[in-house]
Amino acid sequence: MSQPPEKTSATNPAPHNLTPAMERYLEVKRQNPGSILLFRMGDFYELFFEDAVVSSKVLGLTLTSRDKGSPNPIPMAGFPYHALEGYLRKLIVAGHRVAVCEQMEDPKLAKGMIKREVTQVVTPGTLTDEALLDPRESNFLASVWPSRAGTVGLAWLEVSTGRFVTTDLEPAQLADELARIRPSECLHPEHLTNDERLRPLFARSGLLATPRAPWCWAEEACRSALLKHFGTSTLEGMDIDANSAGVTAAGALLEYVQEMQKSSLAHISRLEPYRRGTSLIIDEATRASLELTRTIREGKRDNSLLSVLDETVSPMGARLLADWLSNPLTNIAAINRRLDAVEELTRDTMFCRDLREILAETYDLQRLTAKVATGRASPRDLGSLTRSLALLPKLKAKLAGRQCELLKMLEADLDLNAEIRAVIDATLVDEPPLLTTDGGVIRPGFNGTLDELRDLARGGKEWIAGYQAKESERLGLPNLKVGFNKVFGYYLEVTAAQAAKIPPEYIRKQTLKNQERFITPELKEYEDKVLRAEERAISLEQELFAALRERVAAATARLKQTADVLSEVDVLAALATLAVNQGYCRPELTTDPILDISEGRHPVLDKLMPSGSFVPNDVRLGKGQGARGEGRGTPNSEVEGPHSEPHATLPSNDPVSSLTPRHGRVQLITGPNMAGKSTYIRQAALLTIMAQMGSFIPASEARIGIADRIFARVGASDELSKGQSTFMVEMTETARILNSASDRSLVILDEIGRGTSTYDGISLAWAVTEFLHDQIRCRTLFATHYHELTELTKTLPETSNWNVAIREHGDDIVFLHKIVEGPADKSYGIHVAKIAGLPRDVVERAQVVLAQLESDHVDESGKVKIPERKTRSRDRQRSLFIEPDHPVIEKLKSLDIEQLTPIAALQKLNEFRQELAK
Ligand code: ADP
Ligand code: MG
Repeated sequence: MSQPPEKTSATNPAPHNLTPAMERYLEVKRQNPGSILLFRMGDFYELFFEDAVVSSKVLGLTLTSRDKGSPNPIPMAGFPYHALEGYLRKLIVAGHRVAVCEQMEDPKLAKGMIKREVTQVVTPGTLTDEALLDPRESNFLASVWPSRAGTVGLAWLEVSTGRFVTTDLEPAQLADELARIRPSECLHPEHLTNDERLRPLFARSGLLATPRAPWCWAEEACRSALLKHFGTSTLEGMDIDANSAGVTAAGALLEYVQEMQKSSLAHISRLEPYRRGTSLIIDEATRASLELTRTIREGKRDNSLLSVLDETVSPMGARLLADWLSNPLTNIAAINRRLDAVEELTRDTMFCRDLREILAETYDLQRLTAKVATGRASPRDLGSLTRSLALLPKLKAKLAGRQCELLKMLEADLDLNAEIRAVIDATLVDEPPLLTTDGGVIRPGFNGTLDELRDLARGGKEWIAGYQAKESERLGLPNLKVGFNKVFGYYLEVTAAQAAKIPPEYIRKQTLKNQERFITPELKEYEDKVLRAEERAISLEQELFAALRERVAAATARLKQTADVLSEVDVLAALATLAVNQGYCRPELTTDPILDISEGRHPVLDKLMPSGSFVPNDVRLGKGQGARGEGRGTPNSEVEGPHSEPHATLPSNDPVSSLTPRHGRVQLITGPNMAGKSTYIRQAALLTIMAQMGSFIPASEARIGIADRIFARVGASDELSKGQSTFMVEMTETARILNSASDRSLVILDEIGRGTSTYDGISLAWAVTEFLHDQIRCRTLFATHYHELTELTKTLPETSNWNVAIREHGDDIVFLHKIVEGPADKSYGIHVAKIAGLPRDVVERAQVVLAQLESDHVDESGKVKIPERKTRSRDRQRSLFIEPDHPVIEKLKSLDIEQLTPIAALQKLNEFRQELAK
């Protein structure tokens, strides 16, 4: 959690002899506890005390100090004022709340100390400034309220678009939901700041936990805040139980935003109830290990599943796609509605391309609409809005006459907002400026008074220009000029040498080194007309613009609906484009708990690796249908084990019949490192998620049984970066699976049990598999290097063994990345060692040891036996081609074989070999 700097440490130490500015600093700091304070001093924003220390790290600023000579120098850092935006963004992204304190008067004109006030408090969750927002990502503010009744109220809002949702949860569900929403800021009651249950949920970097005082959570006040905002007398119309904990969370959230924003929140027009169970539940650890929206190592969007899927052409589409990926559906009809639309778009690629061309030209209508509703839209924003609206008739025409339900519905919902567009177009000039302060916003002809004022101003200016010509001729002063400045308006200027020729009616106003400046009553009269006309024109323009904005704001709901249609069309067209480009197929969804994927590919590796180099694999998971042994050959079962030459048809391009048998609910995948085990099991989870979000998937054919939850756990050694308590983490997560998975879930276990000693690990993995098989009865893919687990197929009927095909190639081995049936070859490691050139005696000895380990390892009752250690005969030693006292011999002797896995044994052998080669 990014902790805001402590109030006390920031204002401490309270040094004496403070300058008035520093006194003001401390005062402002006290008024904004928990915020990093950027304090404007001249051309710089300065940071002091703890803020300076924290920010110098985050921003890479040099940490210096004020009053260097004093015994208590104040830590200080700063940056030039024009760099504010960039630094502000960095602080927000790092999860800080920032208060910006500006100078409220011109230092040159100020008498005494310059007045300074906080003009904005920027927090990660309440951002609306586009410069600080990522257009392709939603930015949520969440609020958590554990009620006395035992449920937890959760609400979340995207301030930049107005999407506002609430729900009540069991406490145990909170972590999953927060993982799904990924808020950038989360409000919680102050007294829970150090609560052990909440703290870990807020521990994600980039998430700011914001404590709120007890009175912010008064149920009644929260409810009435919502009612007041929505202007309703009940929340039932929105399908929300007014007594739910979620209402308290939502009310507290709304009040916080009001406090931070200080502007209209009219775009928040609805509070949506969220019902769990309508979407596939994916917990945080699973999201992380499957790299759905971010990679594990870099924490970046690049190379995540999202980045691969994202073919959208608008930021709205990109945000909705991320939303779909975070909330795959569980309702088959709803999924098929999306798939139908994607399919129709894949069939007509011209149509799809045309849609995308139009969408690519639209601006971010969602965020623009929110800006209009909150009164923040600039003239240029309304210009972008109308330009986007202008594209709609073309889009609607394209969408007309489509077959599938979803595209038809989207077409019907696409409101052209023709009146709004007509009003904007009639009111604004074609290329409106960013600001209203200099005028030039309103189209000529729109307002008679404005046109008159403009004429007046223009006429006045023309008169002045004519006056200059007339006077310069009359006086014979070709260099006589008319100028203008803010202090005394229009003036006539001549060089000092010509001043003698100036007639008496000219009034001297200013004498410069080489010029003299004069005014005349006539000039002043017109000046007055010009200036007043200009001033009035601008303020009239501002009025007209504000009225226009209000008028557009009244259409917020319809504009939002249109924006939602655009984003959905964008996502569907993007998924269709991806499907066509990457050769995806439409998955068939079923309620049977099965997984039948023919020639499936890992979506990320498939796209990143050179085309055609990723080896497709089948997945057949679920209750066996007796097809096994019925003689219907499958490409998989035809493939032979690792030692033989691979089957001639490998990798198979045969269309795989959907009749190929399933082998039960649980697959154990064994094999050496780098063979492709992890890739294979993750791919199964990723394809299920993609199918349930309504996407085509990289496979030749697929039937996907709807999953209610997906769990993916990665064993300790695969997560190198983390600390040493990984085994504890691994077991906690495994416990969660065993406690919350159902027979509809899909469980992916990758090397579970590695974080402890071999026997512990095997035993735990063994018991976990039994429990999943017997009690939970869910689909499970378990990649493991514990060869012992392959024995489980003997006692668990719904379990099958799989391994990864490998080919010897001269002195090398080649991973074929093809998943084939059967356990991995046990002596595989020793085999590799032999190829690697280990002395034959060593290889033979290793085989003896292995045989011993295997025969004694597990007795009939499944108990692990510790094999006897054999002492080597002198003969054996002598027959090695090394000196008897060679250090390797000593090491070999002291090797604790019981503690070695086959892989570790292989590594040891390799070490010895290297040592011998020295
Ligand atoms: P394991 O879990 O067995 O150690 P991984 O699944 O991590 O192996 O795969 C190791 C590497 O092998 C991957 O990074 C990828 O480059 C390659 N690989 C895995 N599966 C395939 C495949 N089906 N086709 C092509 N390359 C693959
Ligand atoms: Mg692996």
